[in-house]
Amino acid sequence: MTGFRTFYDFGSLRSFLNEGAKVPQIGLVPTMGALHIGHVSLIERALKENDIVVVTIFVNPKQFNNPIDLEKYPRVPEKDLALLNVYDRVVVCIPQVNDVYPENDPYEKIELGLLDTVLEGEFRPGHFDGVAHVVHNLMFYTKPSKAYFGLKDIQQLSVIKHMVASTKRPVDVVACQTVRDAHGLALSSRNLLLNEAKHKEALIIYKTLSFVKSNIKVLGKEETLKQAQAIFNQSSLELEYLDVVNRTTFGPYEKEGDDNVCCISAFCEKVRLIDNILL
Ligand code: AMP
Repeated sequence: MTGFRTFYDFGSLRSFLNEGAKVPQIGLVPTMGALHIGHVSLIERALKENDIVVVTIFVNPKQFNNPIDLEKYPRVPEKDLALLNVYDRVVVCIPQVNDVYPENDPYEKIELGLLDTVLEGEFRPGHFDGVAHVVHNLMFYTKPSKAYFGLKDIQQLSVIKHMVASTKRPVDVVACQTVRDAHGLALSSRNLLLNEAKHKEALIIYKTLSFVKSNIKVLGKEETLKQAQAIFNQSSLELEYLDVVNRTTFGPYEKEGDDNVCCISAFCEKVRLIDNILL
């Protein structure tokens, strides 16, 4: 069962995966496409830990609270397939909306609590319901042992862990480090929407996060965030939020703990970028 393959529905993917005498151990890497080295790092980790890696490419309409954002989201399937077809044990699945969300939908909505009301939850109402739903269904139909997610979207990672625990899906959720460019900008499919000048300006995001990491233990939360915001405001980007929280619960920052994260969201022209740094 080797050789790069692409499927456009879960039925034919499952038939392929069940072909051999022994069902392979599957690692799932869900993506929305416009793949970059950040995605590749998840795939390579998954290849080390599984027999077959299923990469899904699906721009999930349910997780976009803004229709213009959904419309503008980069879609480059030929490039994506060209990037992945060098991997022998990678199988790509590009499902249709009604395959992911059939009439007889296997998902029962769960409560997300605080995760859905702070930071991303506050600014993107309904977003995490859409994320929990799609990841549940992708897991339901592809039956992985492990699934890989980037720390780049740390709140999403907590939502997914919560969904897996609540729905008792037998899947290990594996967190992978954020991949950055040489200047610190976190790789993101949305970076494709930035021109060179905006790309440079977006570096303020990592500069701001690094300032918080270096100073919070000494200056404390309030003063650090105040100074960090002043640094950020020297740029042309528009800040949506900058805050420090507990990295698992997304409850309040714990001064004495080592379990915190600083999260940021900002608009670079009309492109919404998010990032975070573990404290
Ligand atoms: P997306 O296609 O943006 O939905 O991302 C698919 C997966 O790749 C998610 O688990 C993201 O957290 C992860 N990811 C995106 N960007 C990065 C990055 N720069 N480093 C590591 N993982 C990433």
